Amino acid sequence: MATLSTDVLVIGGGATGAGIAWDAALRGLDVVLVDRQDLAEGTSGRFHGMIHSGGRYAVKDPRAAVECIGENRILRRVAADCIEDTGGMFVTTPFDDPAYADKLAKGCADTGVDCEEITPAQALRDEPRLNPQISRAFRVPDANIDVWKAVWAMSHGAQQHGARILPYHAAVAIHRSDDQVTGVRVRDARTGEESDIEARVTVNAGGAWAGQIADLAGIEGVRVLPGRGIMIAMNHRLVNTVVNRCQMPSDGDIIVPVRTVSVVGTTDVNTDDPDDHTVNQDEVDAMLDDGEKLVPGFRRARALRVWTGVRPLFEDAKPAGTDSRDVTRAHALLDHEQRDGVRGFVTITGGKLTTFRLMAEETVDAVCRQLGETRPCKTASVPLPGSESGENYRLGERLARKEANLIDEQVICECELVPRARLEEAITRTGSTNLDDIRRQLRLGMGPCQGGFCIYRAAGILHARDGLSAEEADGSLLDFLQERWKGVWPVLYGDQLRQVRLDDWIFQGVLDVAHLPRT
Ligand SMILES: Cc1cc2nc3c(=O)[nH]c(=O)nc-3n(C[C@H](O)[C@H](O)[C@H](O)COP(=O)(O)OP(=O)(O)OC[C@H]3O[C@@H](n4cnc5c(N)ncnc54)[C@H](O)[C@@H]3O)c2cc1C
Repeated sequence: MATLSTDVLVIGGGATGAGIAWDAALRGLDVVLVDRQDLAEGTSGRFHGMIHSGGRYAVKDPRAAVECIGENRILRRVAADCIEDTGGMFVTTPFDDPAYADKLAKGCADTGVDCEEITPAQALRDEPRLNPQISRAFRVPDANIDVWKAVWAMSHGAQQHGARILPYHAAVAIHRSDDQVTGVRVRDARTGEESDIEARVTVNAGGAWAGQIADLAGIEGVRVLPGRGIMIAMNHRLVNTVVNRCQMPSDGDIIVPVRTVSVVGTTDVNTDDPDDHTVNQDEVDAMLDDGEKLVPGFRRARALRVWTGVRPLFEDAKPAGTDSRDVTRAHALLDHEQRDGVRGFVTITGGKLTTFRLMAEETVDAVCRQLGETRPCKTASVPLPGSESGENYRLGERLARKEANLIDEQVICECELVPRARLEEAITRTGSTNLDDIRRQLRLGMGPCQGGFCIYRAAGILHARDGLSAEEADGSLLDFLQERWKGVWPVLYGDQLRQVRLDDWIFQGVLDVAHLPRT
């Protein structure tokens, strides 16, 4: 059985785990990161897309608000290329408690969140589709982030510093020698092969799965309660600013413009399984009704797709020795040497995507303490690969690049303007034949047609380039279609139903995919 050996082994390749790998590699530590799936296929790839200004937490959770605004400012610099500076707004609709607006303004002032009141007329000039009956409006510095770009930038950056990144490697056992975690057994999800990784410190960055991973190490009481939330993508940007209802955080009260679409969300339903992706029709209906409150006519726009993510809500079932853990309402860092007397093991869970860099910094500080070393964190000042210019992403950037270079380059995905060369480069670089992995790399099939026109082209290119047999390429296409279908059926009404009928004619009528031979 093959064995790797490293200073730091990170289990979990979401934003937090990738952030830890990047941070530790920048500090000169040797790192291996494993994820049971592709990177950012857990909650990080299933969230609402927003870099919080802190406004949402300014009244309810001031500490979280302070962390969010601090990280918001840092990420705009170091992850500039992944962030679109849309700005944000809190608006009081007729459905909101009018008294909350003053509480928001005070909460923001107390926590240092930039917040400027504007007139409803100004807000409506900026966002003409907003409910015309809004009575108060505030500008805040919310933004959106392309999390896949950020996670890949961190993993490439870590690799440039020697890290080894192993997607599709699940931790199936954690090795202990008495009171020391010594490493992990991983199983390659694609070949079934098992191997051991020895590590001086193992980090559990398993998000909603962190409790299960702690169980593998025989550590008790790390309870992470999964909270499931749904989001719905609408077919274009109904707003260009992140729009929040001016009320205590609740369901369906934010619309985030993300690239070519806008996303309404979210809910929070307790579940006992972090892999539970149930979508209830009544949740979908309630979410669309909530959208109407912010943007009248919302339901008449085309709903493209519904998906769910699972929040990692930490609850320590073990009575706390106060210095044994650093649990904030925002995130939980457990040093198991202090908490359980088990050396070489640290858990980080909870928190928000907005604060992943801070969570990574605190985690690698704890790792360094366990290693008995002092190595300062650099991630607040060193830009991610691709973000060196410090310029934020702008919608229309891909189109501008295309227009500047009007040669006969073939466009494979018209919605997200993915040219053939980028698709071929991603297939070669990742070595993946999984079209869903390639979707996350390039945003292929994530725009209004949801893969209806681009994905069979991509399957053909995969077949031609990668030497896949026809059956293997068919399998990849069919898996992609099946995955997309899961998110489409709950919103089959109106124009989306017409779009799906068209897709059906293409895939069933013309290509007869139901009868393709596949592996
Ligand atoms: C509906 C919803 C909306 C949200 N919206 C926002 C938002 O707009 N802004 C914001 O800031 N935050 C938001 N959040 C919170 C944010 O998404 C999460 O806090 C964040 O993504 C968690 O990242 P993570 O890396 O800790 O966990 P994850 O991204 O879940 O990563 C954990 C990883 O561990 C891997 N793993 C599990 N078990 C194993 C194993 N045995 N071996 C190897 N790997 C394993 C999983 O595959 C996964 O990739 C939202 C959350 C939800 C649920």
